[in-house]
Amino acid sequence: MIIIKTKEEIEKLREGGRRLASVLYKVKEKVVPGISTKELDTYAEKLIREMGDEPAFLNYRPSGAKIPFPASLCVSVNDEVVHGIPSYEKILKEGDIISLDLGLKHGGLFTDMAITVPVGKVSEGSLKLMEITEQALQVGVNAARSGNTVGDIGHAIESFVRSGKDKNGGQQYGIVEVLSGHGVGRAIHEDPYIPNFGKMGKGEKLTPGMVVALEPMINNGTKHVTLDKDGYTFRTADSKRSAHFEHTILITGGEAEILTKI
Ligand code: MG
Repeated sequence: MIIIKTKEEIEKLREGGRRLASVLYKVKEKVVPGISTKELDTYAEKLIREMGDEPAFLNYRPSGAKIPFPASLCVSVNDEVVHGIPSYEKILKEGDIISLDLGLKHGGLFTDMAITVPVGKVSEGSLKLMEITEQALQVGVNAARSGNTVGDIGHAIESFVRSGKDKNGGQQYGIVEVLSGHGVGRAIHEDPYIPNFGKMGKGEKLTPGMVVALEPMINNGTKHVTLDKDGYTFRTADSKRSAHFEHTILITGGEAEILTKI
């Protein structure tokens, strides 16, 4: 069931989104060669709690998961697509790219955001991968208009990513299909689910007051992913790199409003 948020809820989500973005950009500044992914997680949790809010992913148990997620921040390095578990053993190296995915609960309501950032100096190919993924998110946001459908968002993202193969040495980028964007607000995952591919005019209609998280996950090679034994970490099946950007947005009568911004 799709939940239309009230004016009061939208106000809280706007504030929560602003706080979430400010935390994530502070965490980004800590990304340097030599730091462990667990240190980034600890820092993110500290910043969230200092504001009186709660990390949304800590102890969250998605359906089918054997154990709750043990951290506040998902940190996914290089070929890891999403849901990487932070660890003191995992030390970032110059040239890595990492996805930082964070959820925040403010005033009882959830927002969700992700960015992929370079560790020091990274290859041209990695820069292009991150650039096209961030642009794909914006293309999705532009398509997320009242009257359009979930399929219109997916179609816009898919068409854009397909058109970018010249940036990848003529190779097609892989659009991850088994994971998708989603409604968000009263819970971290709500209806509708929003694939990063689709057909125009198909799927649920977008209406003002819907709050959704768009999150393209784009691979440098195959679209196929595998799940690690830890039950959380998705990685590319061909070990090539992946990037991930996410915003929580509000559907309005006109252009969508990005809530996860400073
Ligand atoms: Mg999400």
